[in-house]
This record gives sequence, C-alpha cells and structure tokens, in this order.
Amino acid sequence: MPVFDHPEFDQHESLHFVQDPATGLKAIIAIHSTALGPAAGGCRRWKYASDRHAVTDALRLSRGMTYKNAVAGLEFGGGKSVILASDDAPKTPELFRAFGRAVEGLGGKYITAEDVGCSVEDMRYVNEATSYVSGLPKSGDEAGGDPSPMTALGVFLGIEAAVRFRLGKDSLEGIRVAVQGVGHVGLNLCRLLHEAGARLIVADVNRDHLKLAKDELPVTVVAPAEVLFTDVDVLAPCALGNVLTSQTIPEIKATVVAGAANNQLSNEQDGARLADRDILYAPDYVINAGGIINVAREYYGGSSEEVRTEIGRIPERLEQIFKEAETSKQPTNLIADELARSIVADAGKVPPVAA
Ligand code: NAD
Repeated sequence: MPVFDHPEFDQHESLHFVQDPATGLKAIIAIHSTALGPAAGGCRRWKYASDRHAVTDALRLSRGMTYKNAVAGLEFGGGKSVILASDDAPKTPELFRAFGRAVEGLGGKYITAEDVGCSVEDMRYVNEATSYVSGLPKSGDEAGGDPSPMTALGVFLGIEAAVRFRLGKDSLEGIRVAVQGVGHVGLNLCRLLHEAGARLIVADVNRDHLKLAKDELPVTVVAPAEVLFTDVDVLAPCALGNVLTSQTIPEIKATVVAGAANNQLSNEQDGARLADRDILYAPDYVINAGGIINVAREYYGGSSEEVRTEIGRIPERLEQIFKEAETSKQPTNLIADELARSIVADAGKVPPVAA
C-alpha cells in the first residue's frame, strides 16, 4: 500500500502500524506534527472496509488534530490512532492494554484519549500500560472524564454564534436544527439545544441511541438518508466524516452547517461549494475543540471551570473566521486552515531580538 504518495499524506512525522497477535489488536498511530507539543488526539475503534481506509482515516484525522490543537491554543501537536475492529479482535481489557503498550513505546510523542467506539472505561485499561493517556475518570472539580459533554458545549456555543452571524438572531428559540447522529456528543448537544428552545430533528443508524433521544427529548425522527437534506435552519453533523460532498451539498436546505463530526468536508473544494450556496460552514475542528480542551486541561492539570472558560472562546474564534471569510470572499475552511498553518509555522521560531 503506497503511503508517501497517499493523497492524505501531508508531511506526517511518522506512522506506526501496531499488531498484537495475542489480543488480535491491529492499530495505526499517526503522528502528524509535534511542533506545538506532543501529538494528541483520540483513539477511534471502527470496522473499516479495508486497511487502506483505516490509513486514510488516521492520516486525515491526525492532520485535523494538528489544526484543531493549534487554533484552540493548546500546547499539543496533532496525532490520532485507529483500532481496526473485527470479529477476531473483540473489545477486551487486554486489547486496550496492548494498545497502551504501543502508546507507551512512543515515549510520550503521542497522547491518546477516547474517540468514536472507545469509552472512559477503555482508557482506564490503556492507562494500566501507559501514562500518555487522557480522558480518564475524574474526581470533584478536576478537568477530565468523558470529553463529549464539553465537545457538545463548544458546538452549542458555536451554533449560537453561527446563527447570530448568518441569521441575525440572538436566540435559538424556534430555530430548527437537524442533528445527524445522537451518540455521545449528539445527545448532549440535543439537550443543550432543547433547553435553548430549538426544535430538533434527529437521525441515527443505531436504534438504541435513537430511543434514548426519543425517550428524553421532544425530537422528530427522520431516516438517516434524509437528515442532511431536511428543511431546517442548522444542520449539525455529529456522526462520521465525509458528509459534505459534491453530491450532498447541492441538496442541503440548511443555511448553517455547524456540528461535531471530524472531517465533515470530503475535500477542500467542498468548503467553496458551501460558500457558493451561501451556506455558512463552521469549520469542524474549530467548533468541536471542546473535547480536546478538556483532554488538555486534564493532562496538564486544571479545573472544569477553566475548561468552560476556554470553551467560551470558541464562538469568538468562529466569528473572527466568519468575518474574515466575508471580507476576503474566501470559504471559512480555507481561512481556518491558513490560521492553523500560520500558528504551526510560527512555533519554534525565535522571536526577533529587540535592537
Ligand atoms: P458516537 O459513536 O458516540 O456517536 C456517533 C453516532 O452517530 C452514533 O450514535 C452512530 O450510530 C451515529 N451514526 C453513524 N453513522 C450514521 C449515519 N450515517 N447517520 C446517522 N447516524 C449515524 O461518537 P461521538 O463521540 O458522539 O462523536 C461524534 C463525532 O464527533 C465523530 O465524528 C467524532 O470524531 C467527533 N468528535 C467527537 C468528540 C468527542 O468528544 N467525543 C470530540 C471531537 C469530535
């Protein structure tokens, strides 16, 4: 499988292939950049169509983490890991301990945490083999634990900012929001949106997750195939990536796209496709940084109050990006990418000596 000329290979520092025959573990750890600090990003456990798909995901997600951590102002570089789920590798404590040993072997260059398919409990097993892990159970007012509620909080504040900017409304009362995926982040987001008076339209491929949402909140359920194209004000993708494509964008009716999923755009040009349709896109890694902010404060030490204060800056960052995009007539994703790349490029540069 070609790697160096892989379309998603973007000067990644290293790519590690992990195998543990005793537990069936197969994993890939991608370190995109350590310019701003140790490469940090969650561990995703997913059943991939092929090894190539897993490599693509690890490469894209790890670069996204470099950008996310940079824009969020964290002392973290970007990395990500994927565990290839299969019937031969059931989810066991031993599997996560084996993964933890692989993380330990990188000597602190990569810090892991939970992402899709992994839980706080799984990270406890990882922690038995390495200290380079965050997203562990917390006590009292310490930062830590499941990052999803903090991700949801940032996305909620980001939706408020986008609605203010695009629709000129200071309140979400009566605003129709379609949430694709009511998992860890999506359900927490629905709770916050409901409290703010928004009307919720949801979809999920997992019936149990959908039932939890339906039992707790007044939601209208639509089919997974329809949710992106529902007649709403805001579309919040909170499932997986690659949902905004040349095929889906022409059919989207929302005027704002703002959600938690990583890599929502299938490629860079999709940002321009959204802008051409006058759809305001909140760059995914800017709006969904709440979870990694929580992970960072847990890792370096801090309180949940500090986490909330830092998450409170997400709307300001988005507004800055929205304004710059409007002034320069460029898509929001390109403005965010330029900002992230300039922060990384400046890292390590010796400040000029005053004359
Ligand atoms: P999760 O697995 O708990 O939830 C995802 C949900 O999406 C699940 O309920 C799943 O059944 C559903 N889903 C999958 N495919 C779907 C489809 N085609 N249509 C409708 N529903 C579908 O994951 P999560 O932790 O809530 O994360 C959601 C997204 O947000 C992911 O892309 C993740 O990378 C991103 N994200 C999560 C965090 C975090 O703190 N958990 C932080 C940043 C970004």
